[in-house]
Amino acid sequence: MDNITALKASRLAKEIDNRFKLTTDVFNAIAKTDRELFIPKGFGFHAYKLDALPISAKQWISSPLTVAKMTQYLDARGADRVLEIGCGSGYQAAVLSHLFRGVFTVERIEHLLNEARSRFKQMGAHNIHTRHSDGQNGWIGYAPYDRILFSAAVSQIPSKIFDQLSNTGILIAPIWQDDKQIITRFQKHGNRIVEDKIEECDFVPILNGTQK
Ligand code: SAH
Repeated sequence: MDNITALKASRLAKEIDNRFKLTTDVFNAIAKTDRELFIPKGFGFHAYKLDALPISAKQWISSPLTVAKMTQYLDARGADRVLEIGCGSGYQAAVLSHLFRGVFTVERIEHLLNEARSRFKQMGAHNIHTRHSDGQNGWIGYAPYDRILFSAAVSQIPSKIFDQLSNTGILIAPIWQDDKQIITRFQKHGNRIVEDKIEECDFVPILNGTQK
């Protein structure tokens, strides 16, 4: 990362921190991630604002404030591996790559995933593993995960996803409730799941199947 990028990214972390107090680890993860790399060409001037942005295929790159919150709610301390469902631009996964030893991220739209892959390569994030598939099936090959994050809104967590969460693992997801979405935290204690609602949010809905 060059000096100017580093300055912009740390300014972004400070701006987020003013609205939502960040832990040192999450602050540093934001400050180490070049958001501009994840933004469509021509929108660069927008990269360090706290807005969501349109990317291709009617999809959105989440607001950095939302990404920071989701990251903090995940609570990476003591955790090793995280599964993200809904890679999109890859920005969320890139932030997670500074906090976890292994990041596993799944995307249903192939061309978005290809773009994200080339960004991960460019930033030298060798600990991010990607897969083109319907994330509602999780990624059984590397399960269980200490943390699971839904980056798209679901009505319910499929039981096969809970099966892929480690025994004391935490899962964060935007859950549809009537016409609202609530960021919800699920913690597994063996065969018991404790659920806590955190706050309202606005994610794109999860869709079935895959597309090019
Ligand atoms: N984490 C992204 C946010 C992307 S928006 C970022 O930081 O930019 C949510 C993404 O979830 C979209 O790219 C959408 O295509 C993807 N998605 C929706 N349903 C999915 C599914 N069933 N499996 C995998 N990805 C899905």
